[in-house]
Amino acid sequence: ITFASLGVPAALADTLAGQGIETPFPIQTKTLPDTLAGRDVLGRGQTGSGKTIAFAIPLVARLAAQGAAISRTPRRPQGLVLAPTRELATQINATVEPLAKAAGLTTTVIFGGVSQARQERALNAGVDIVIACPGRLEDLGRQKLVSLAEVDVTVLDEADHMADLGFLPVVKRLLDQTPKGGQRLLFSATLDNGVDKLVTRYLQNPLTHSV
Ligand code: AMP
Repeated sequence: ITFASLGVPAALADTLAGQGIETPFPIQTKTLPDTLAGRDVLGRGQTGSGKTIAFAIPLVARLAAQGAAISRTPRRPQGLVLAPTRELATQINATVEPLAKAAGLTTTVIFGGVSQARQERALNAGVDIVIACPGRLEDLGRQKLVSLAEVDVTVLDEADHMADLGFLPVVKRLLDQTPKGGQRLLFSATLDNGVDKLVTRYLQNPLTHSV
C-alpha cells in the first residue's frame, strides 16, 4: 500500500516521500479513504501511531481542493486543529506545515503564555490553517482578532487529554463558532470525561477507527 493508492494527492505523497515516509501506518491506511472522502472520523489512536499525518493529509487536501489560499482572508482561517498543550501544537505544526506549503497553504500556531503580538500578526496576514490551544484561541476570538466562521475542517487532537485539563467547555464554545456541515476529525485514546458527548454532539455519522 502507498499513500498514492489511498488517494493522497501527489504533491502531498511526494512531500512525505521526501521525508522518508512512504509506507502508510495502519491508522493512516484505515482512516485515509474515509477522511479523504470527507467523512467525520473518530480515531482511537495512541501517540506514536501516526495520527498526525493521518489528519494532516485530509485537512490539507480538502482546503487545497477548495482553493483556500485563493480566498484567504485576514483573521478567517478555514482549517482548525485544537490540541491540549503548546508542545503538541508545535509538533503538529511541524508535521502540517510542509504538507500545507506543498499545497500553497499557510499555517500558524497559537498558544498562551507568550506575547500575542506575533500570533496577531500571523492572523492579520491571513492564514489558512490555525493550530491552537483552546484558551488562547478563545481569547483572540473575544478580541475579534480571529473568527472561526469560515472553518471548514476541524481536528480535535488528544481530546481525552483536553478533557483531563478541563478544556472541554472552551472546546465546545469554539466548535459552536464553526459552521455546521464542515468536516470534523476527533482523535482520542479514550471516550471518558465527556469526550463521548463531544463525539455525539459535534461529529456527524462518524466512522470509528482504532489501532
Ligand atoms: P504521531 O503518532 O503522529 O505522533 O507520529 C509518530 C511518529 O511516526 C512521527 O515521528 C512521524 O513522523 C512518524 N510517522 C508517521 N507516519 C509514518 C509513516 N507512515 N512512516 C514512517 N514514519 C511515520
